Amino acid sequence: MKSIINILSPEVINQIAAGEVIQRPASVIKELIENSIDAKSQSIEIIIENAGKKLIKIIDDGSGMSEQDATICFQKHSTSKITSTEDIMQILTMGFRGEALSSIASIADVELQTKTKFEDIGTIIHIDNSNIKNIKKIASQTGTSISVKNLFFNIPARKNFLKSDQIEMKHLLEVFTQIAIAHHKVAFKIQHNGKIIYNLPPTNTKQRIIQIFGKRYNQKMLPVKEETSIVEISGFLGNPIESKKTRGEQFLYVNNRFIKSSYLNHAIKSSVQDIITKDQHPSYFIFMRIAPNLIDVNIHPNKIEVKFEDEKAIYQILKSACKRSIGMNNITPSLDFTTEESFEIPVYNTKSIPKEPKIKINTSFNPFEKNTRRAKENTENIHELFDHQIQNIIENVMNIDSQYAVFTIIQNNIRTLNIIDKKRSLQRIKYEEVIELLTNQKIALQKVITPLKININQIDIELIKENRNLLQEIGYEISEIKNNYIKVSSTPTKLQEISLEELFELFLEQLKNNNTKIKSSIIHETALKITRKIHVKQNNIDNQNSLTELIKKTLNCQNPFIGIDGTPCIINIEPNNFFD
Ligand code: ADP
Ligand code: MG
Repeated sequence: MKSIINILSPEVINQIAAGEVIQRPASVIKELIENSIDAKSQSIEIIIENAGKKLIKIIDDGSGMSEQDATICFQKHSTSKITSTEDIMQILTMGFRGEALSSIASIADVELQTKTKFEDIGTIIHIDNSNIKNIKKIASQTGTSISVKNLFFNIPARKNFLKSDQIEMKHLLEVFTQIAIAHHKVAFKIQHNGKIIYNLPPTNTKQRIIQIFGKRYNQKMLPVKEETSIVEISGFLGNPIESKKTRGEQFLYVNNRFIKSSYLNHAIKSSVQDIITKDQHPSYFIFMRIAPNLIDVNIHPNKIEVKFEDEKAIYQILKSACKRSIGMNNITPSLDFTTEESFEIPVYNTKSIPKEPKIKINTSFNPFEKNTRRAKENTENIHELFDHQIQNIIENVMNIDSQYAVFTIIQNNIRTLNIIDKKRSLQRIKYEEVIELLTNQKIALQKVITPLKININQIDIELIKENRNLLQEIGYEISEIKNNYIKVSSTPTKLQEISLEELFELFLEQLKNNNTKIKSSIIHETALKITRKIHVKQNNIDNQNSLTELIKKTLNCQNPFIGIDGTPCIINIEPNNFFD
């Protein structure tokens, strides 16, 4: 029988390999800009035609290449960045796999012009289907210029797979922005079909973000800074008040490399979850510095996913850094009248009133604040201060109906009108009580005289074995594990509304569903479940006393403004701003 196995030609091998690195024009841009950055360029210019399908040209003022390097840089696995596998553990350059130029050369027409500062005259090389077509000497500036023309000209299937110019351009600018933000000291200019899109002089990180996203970001950003032995964190968190209903700008970097990580994204998101509504997404620009030997960037050809040695610790540090940033910036949540049906304000007829009244929401409202900033005080002091003032500040309490009441607060001689949603407030109070109880189990750990027996199915027994320590941290000290039951010698403080067995079930459920296995998030989810289970009764809260009590308790919460489902509990209006 005739043999049916062939060895693929180098050309085909290259084209297949190229598919991993180069999917679309955006991937070309990424690889080429990263090369320019690795070559220590100060200024990078990008010229694009037809969303990169026709032309991508990158001109840099970096180190350039000698004639010899220029002839081998298009070969497979040619790199100046590593020589041994150990080097990968210390990698600080963007590239190191030596695949980009060879991949690009196998699927497009490529022209390279380059000169180092040590030479007087540069080199120009034309590559066609991975082969050097011609090579000449040419007068050049120090640096490199690469043109990539007719992408996928030799792979029609991939060419057809490309999307409209508009969509390819979107991908391309996404990649451009990711890199431009991290490399703020580099000047970038990018033009498409003759039109300049961005012209960005060198600057600092914050100004680079403003250069790209506009001046409104000046107000919007809270600095984040944290230095620990395993990771240094810096950057900005978009002010949660301004959080977007669509996915915001979310930029996360490790050693200046943009990465995607839904796990670490969750850390940042959970740091703001209490102060944004459930359909909002926080913006952030966070930079992590980690010793290169503690991460592995070589798990993905595009190096956009990174493996961390201690991801769990980084998660916690990231979360607390963001929380601290919010605390220090005295943030209170977004109060969006227009999207909350239940809080709708009657719209005035603009024809009968010459100027439409503007309602400004005092987003920096803080009932605890006197002259000192909240961030400087610990919670106890805040509450002391608050209790002391409370009789004076709450006034004009008036019930509206079974759902709402209104009241005023005088604070710093400014009187604000507030609307409280009774049910949401009761839930918020309950939720925080449960969190408090479950979090401080070290103090509350209850030794039981006769061990409590809890029946468990066999599958869950494995889960319990795996998470014995975590369960103990939450309050359940397990003394015995059998096939279908366990015995616990200590339990958390009993909650009024739910038995210890039921609570244990809830924890197990969270352990099953929650892939983070982090104590605080398990407690958070469990507290939510418990609170939702409890039927809060707001109907009899309708007189002066009971309402004032509810308002006090709500304002005493860590976060008095947002209900557990992400909708407002209390919203406030500064009357001075009604007409301006
Ligand atoms: P890698 O970046 O992984 O090393 P590439 O295929 O992207 O692999 O590039 C191969 C080599 O070509 C690089 O290691 C570098 O030495 C050289 N090179 C590529 N682009 C440039 C540039 N813009 N300036 C100077 N040298 C470059
Ligand atoms: Mg490279």
